Parts: sequence; C-alpha cells; structure tokens
Amino acid sequence: MERLDHFMARANAAYYATHDPYRDFTTAPEISQVFGEILGLWAAVTWELIGRPDPVLLVEAGPGRGTLMADALRAIREVAKGFHAALRLHLIETSPSLRAIQAERLPGAIWHQGLDTLPNGPLLLVGNEFLDALPIRQFVRRGGMWVERFVEDGGFVERPALPPPPAPLPQGEGEDVLTLPPLTGGGRGAGAAGQAVFELNEPALAIAQCLGSRLSTHPGAALFLDYGPEQSNFGDSLQAVSDGRPANPLAPPGTADLTAHVNFAAFAAAARDAGAAIHGPVPQGLFLARLGLFQRTDRLARTQPPARASGLIEAARRLAEPNRMGRLFKALALCSPACPTPPGFAG
Ligand code: SAH
Repeated sequence: MERLDHFMARANAAYYATHDPYRDFTTAPEISQVFGEILGLWAAVTWELIGRPDPVLLVEAGPGRGTLMADALRAIREVAKGFHAALRLHLIETSPSLRAIQAERLPGAIWHQGLDTLPNGPLLLVGNEFLDALPIRQFVRRGGMWVERFVEDGGFVERPALPPPPAPLPQGEGEDVLTLPPLTGGGRGAGAAGQAVFELNEPALAIAQCLGSRLSTHPGAALFLDYGPEQSNFGDSLQAVSDGRPANPLAPPGTADLTAHVNFAAFAAAARDAGAAIHGPVPQGLFLARLGLFQRTDRLARTQPPARASGLIEAARRLAEPNRMGRLFKALALCSPACPTPPGFAG
C-alpha cells in the first residue's frame, strides 16, 4: 500500500525514464515556436522592470525537450542583447533522459534537482506544465471524517487521514455535498468520488513558498503556465495519458504519464504569504494575445511557404482559443513586491 503522491512520483519517474513523453502528449512549446519566443521576450521586459540586474539567473522548471528555452534564447539574442549577456541559464529537471536532450539544445546550462540548490540573487523563472506533473495527495470526506487515498493492487484504498488535510479548504460546499457514502468494493471510481475529493499538491506549495521568500529579498519574477481552475474546487482531477489516449492512472508505474489540475488559488496564496506579489491567474489565451502571439505569428507566417504559414496560424489558434488551450490553461506570475505589473497581466 502506497500513499497516492508516492505512487504518482514513482509512476512519473518510471514513465519519464523509459518513454519519450512527447510520443504521448504535446505541449505549447511543441505546438508553436512563437510560444517560447514571446515568453523569452516576456523575461527580457521583466528583466528591465526589475532594474536590469547583471548577472541574473534565467531558470526553467521542467524544460522537457528544451524547446521553450531554445526558442526563448533565440528571440532574446535577437532583440535583447543586454539581457542575453547578463543571463545565466539554470534548469530544474529530474529526468536523466530529458536532461540529455536538454543538454544538446541548451549548451552551458546548469542542472538542478530542485529549487533549493539555485544560487542566490535576482532570478527570472518560467515553468510550463511543470506544476501539473508534481505528485498530489487526495483526501475524501466520508461518513463525517476525512480519509486519504492510498494505492494497492491497482485500486484505491482509504485510510483515516490523520491529521486531516490542512485548511483552507475550497469554499462554498456544505457538509452534505462533502460527505460520500461509505466505500463499497475496491478500485478506482468506487463511490463516484465527484466533488468531495480534496487534492493537495505539497511539492507545488513548497515551491511557491520557496519562491515567495526568495522574491521578498531578491528582485525577480516567476511565470507559471499550467492547466487548472482559477478557484479552488473539490474534485478528482488525476489523469493519465498513455499512447496519446486517456489511461487508468493506477496502472503499473511507468505505463502512463500522470498529471493533476493545478490549484492556482492555493499556489498563489502560499507565495503571497511568503512575501511575493501575485499577478493573475489570467487565461492563457488572453495572456498570449496580450504578449503579441498573433502579430508575431503573422509576421513570421509572411516569410514562410503557404503550408507552413497556415500551420503557424492554426498553432496560434490552438494555444489561444477558449475552447482549446486558451481558457483551461492559465498564466500566473509571482514577483518581487517592487516589480511593476509584468507584461500580459494588465488589460
Ligand atoms: N515544460 C515542458 C515539459 C513539461 S512535462 C513542455 O512544456 O514541453 C514536465 C517536465 O517536468 C518534464 O521535463 C519532467 O521531467 C519535469 N519534472 C517532473 N517532475 C519534476 C520534479 N519533481 N522536479 C523537476 N522536474 C520535474
């Protein structure tokens, strides 16, 4: 029997070690080069806003294939030479196979297992679909008490949650809604978890706290793009993808990629409590449009053959349209308190 977050950590480590995850899913930087380019320009403008510190750490959390950062650095080199000269590239990545791919595309980078070994000083950090890969715990309100989900033989088992999940819990749910009938039978889905599941992403909250206290003493900003609702909600958002299709999250470790919705409200509150100023979350489509996604895409498309040009325009739409990636995905920035509102967060 294994607590869900321990199972999820083991499953994702095994999965990333043995698979090319990009066979199974695609992410914004792989959809359009303009995504990484405009995030690079976001970092360049934000560097100006924090007073052009030199040197400055440019950090990416969970860089995947290194595509976002390669596109960002190309754009930075073109239009922000001062920033390009000042930046020191640091990458946070646990997967040895993805580190090897990143090393080919991002020479000179320094790798870390987590944020705690980053050197002190001013920093600009980006993380796309990083927080959703971090392991979650799930608590269920059952029979007037909290139980926690563990994994055993491919199904869930529940144990009394001692101590109960930490407050604050999502608002506006009565005890009736919160309480499920006793679990009957085994396995995933028993009891139709529905809205009475409370998810806790402890590593994400630790990152928010670490960044918040760092930003309270050093100039900087951290930008996270990920999927999840704006407000905290109850609900089971654990999902698995294997061979490009939804899969059973409790299948043997290494067979599927597991993610969960990011609780932006809880993440932002943890960073704010630790001393950061918070901007957003704003829907990804709005954020990217404000950063000039469509203008830059049009300009690039004009220089390309027709098939590639229409591919670029279609890719921009996929990233920004509300019923595609534009609304479910959000952008959130944590900033040092003296930093003015960074690009994309003011109308
Ligand atoms: N940002 C990339 C990859 C997203 S997949 C993109 O948009 O394509 C999640 C990334 O986070 C992968 O690189 C994965 O190896 C990394 N990762 C997952 N858990 C991690 C952890 N606990 N610490 C550091 N990196 C982690």
